[in-house]
Amino acid sequence: MTDPTAKDLLFFRYHQAMTTLRPEEPLNLTSDVDLVTFGQRLRHLRRSRGMTLADLGERVGRAPSQLSLLENGRREPKLSLLQALATALEAPVEELLRRQPPSRRAQLEIALEEAQRDPLYRTLGLSHLKVGKRMPNEVIEHILALYGELRRSRTKPTASPEEARKANAELRRQMHERGNHFADIENVAAQTLDAVGYRGGAVSQGTLMTLVSHFGFGLQYVRDLPRSVRSVTDLRNRRIYLEREQLGMHTPRTILLQTLGHIALDHDQPADFADFLRQRVEANYFGAAILMPERAVVPFLQEAKANRELSVEDLADVFSVSYEMAAHRFTNMATHHLGLQLHFTKNDENGTIYKAYANDGLSFPQDSDGAIEGQRMCRSWAGRHVFNAEDRFSVYYQYTDTPTGTYWCLSHIDPSHERDFAITLGVRYEDSRWFRGRDSTNREKSACPDGDCCQRPPKALADRWEGMAWPSARAHSHVLSVLPPGAFPGVDEADVYAFLDRHSTE
Ligand SMILES: [Zn+2]
Repeated sequence: MTDPTAKDLLFFRYHQAMTTLRPEEPLNLTSDVDLVTFGQRLRHLRRSRGMTLADLGERVGRAPSQLSLLENGRREPKLSLLQALATALEAPVEELLRRQPPSRRAQLEIALEEAQRDPLYRTLGLSHLKVGKRMPNEVIEHILALYGELRRSRTKPTASPEEARKANAELRRQMHERGNHFADIENVAAQTLDAVGYRGGAVSQGTLMTLVSHFGFGLQYVRDLPRSVRSVTDLRNRRIYLEREQLGMHTPRTILLQTLGHIALDHDQPADFADFLRQRVEANYFGAAILMPERAVVPFLQEAKANRELSVEDLADVFSVSYEMAAHRFTNMATHHLGLQLHFTKNDENGTIYKAYANDGLSFPQDSDGAIEGQRMCRSWAGRHVFNAEDRFSVYYQYTDTPTGTYWCLSHIDPSHERDFAITLGVRYEDSRWFRGRDSTNREKSACPDGDCCQRPPKALADRWEGMAWPSARAHSHVLSVLPPGAFPGVDEADVYAFLDRHSTE
């Protein structure tokens, strides 16, 4: 019969003591870490008895170097040696095998040893740090804190600009597949509206408040919301915190509905950035589906189409929503309910595209990942020309000849935003007959994405100025930048938790 090892003994004890553990739980007792703990306990006991390695070695008949290997957690003792050690140290075997580190110091040393064995730590390429007796606890604590931060930053979903743009492109592909109409979310919204007694037309403030309590939440308006968030939901006390004053598309009403959207749609903490984006799109969709219920919007649009008076501003008016939200909701309904294919863009005065959707064959500028956000829109498109229109806040209409055909577009600078953004909806030439503004005489020609259209300077100018200009670039928009890591990208969790703590005791 072979001499059982300490591991065998531990294993045996484990089964004796821990039969209540679930079977899938790992047997941590046999991992490296427990050998380290064992070594720590051995060293602690030896020192507390005032013995050197040589003293102890003599009593158990082993070389000091062998005991040193044991104390450093690099070798596993056989049961016979374990018993000899216990006898020499005048302590029961159990004392040596206990899982708790013998002291704060030992605990720190074990944690550091464990950290250094982590493959993630090893990727740093540092040589193994041997902990000497004189290394202060503070130094070890410091290293462990850095290691903790390293783990946190590597294991949570983060998004590089490339990942963010890829995730966006994938999402757009899915929206395209469904004609930007999400029937399942429409259903959840419809059921929610039924549950709170919605009777048709625009949704009243009272209905919205009923909706909040329908989900078992209370509302609280505050002035000190963390800067990185638009709302915070306290799931423990079931409270939704909102900032009192908001501008533009993100009025408290829409933020509130997006928050409830996450709850209504059973969203879990996002697993990665793509998941985060998908959840945000779905929650926004839910919010719009409540404020502009399908059952009210569809008859309204069908009638407007029959009268050849389709427009976005009427929709925004009737349902008291921003122009952007109305235009977006229009895209949810157009293909599914009106048989219209169309495109939608949001861009700033420089032509930088923030949002885009198309299923009418229009070809957007895009990068190698298929991302459109952050690209520059053709100078000849309506979204650019609207900024030069005489009255830049009325709706601008334009026909544009492009390599994929002629399109008719309506474009409007949404006045509900702090910054100027053009919101554009467009359809193929033959579909313009259903819209108000089809009699426009504005007509432009675009050869984009051909670089000679407008993306490269005209040759005469280039010849004159090449090498003679030194522009200073303005910092770029958020769609292009790295989002800070965290379970919710871009959100400062420390701020959020501090905020919740501050308010939950009120
Ligand atoms: Zn162009």
